[in-house]
Amino acid sequence: MSKNNFKCKSCEHEFFVYEYRTKYKDEGTVYSDKGGQLKCPECESLDLENIPRQGGYGIPFGINIGKFSSASSDKKKEILEKRRDEHFKKKGKEMHEHIQRNFKGSSSKLW
Ligand SMILES: [Zn+2]
Repeated sequence: MSKNNFKCKSCEHEFFVYEYRTKYKDEGTVYSDKGGQLKCPECESLDLENIPRQGGYGIPFGINIGKFSSASSDKKKEILEKRRDEHFKKKGKEMHEHIQRNFKGSSSKLW
């Protein structure tokens, strides 16, 4: 299976981009990565086609270019759990404040 996930509509060159964003604009779908808009490495055309891959779009399976690759699995778990806790703590607080602000003493017509 080809690992390429983009194809140039102008010259049919196929290439691979590890991480990219998709934007839907009036003039069409635009793909970009950290360096800006993606273009064909062969002819620099911006008219690219995303090649659907098995298992979905974007970051491919089986390739682990890792932020975590140096961490042990316990460490990974720890990092992920910490991140999740912080996320929920923050969300929970926001939600609580939101409710306090908006519904405190409000009349029953809201419900
Ligand atoms: Zn091209």
